[in-house]
Amino acid sequence: MNHLTHLSSGACLGAVLAPQQPSLWALCAVGALLPDLDSPKTTIGRVVPPVSWLVNKLLGWNAPHPDGHRGGTHSLLAVVVVSVLARHAMGPTAGWVLACGYVSHLLLDQLTIQGIRWLWPLPLDFRLPYPLAMASGHPWANAIVSTMAVAIALGLRFQHELEPWAAHLVRMLS
Ligand SMILES: [Zn+2]
Repeated sequence: MNHLTHLSSGACLGAVLAPQQPSLWALCAVGALLPDLDSPKTTIGRVVPPVSWLVNKLLGWNAPHPDGHRGGTHSLLAVVVVSVLARHAMGPTAGWVLACGYVSHLLLDQLTIQGIRWLWPLPLDFRLPYPLAMASGHPWANAIVSTMAVAIALGLRFQHELEPWAAHLVRMLS
């Protein structure tokens, strides 16, 4: 998945988790970008190259990618560490939202052919089987996932407003 897919999905998840607090939508989107801090080639890695380089050296071993990408930052261990740190740094609600954004990134990366290593440092790859798995950079895959995220967020946000329309549509079709 590319950074726009993670960003849009994270923001949508934030809108579902905290509909009345747009600042938390942004925080969830940031959380959804954080795992890719392990590669200086990614969007967030290019924002802070020295940090990205350090994270790559510390957590990039035993990664599915030879350049160290999707190693420790894409694991359950990272989810636990990020959750605890975020909770202490930002409080329970913001910490929870950031951690949810972080997990959303890992779930989306697991849909790709490359997969991730949830149990890192164990070298076990978790991915959807072919042909269900998507190529990470495929534009259609990214567009479909982003559109689905927006649709789900809008559907949940405006659920009550949409129910009469849905009932009307069902009556028309039956
Ligand atoms: Zn990733």
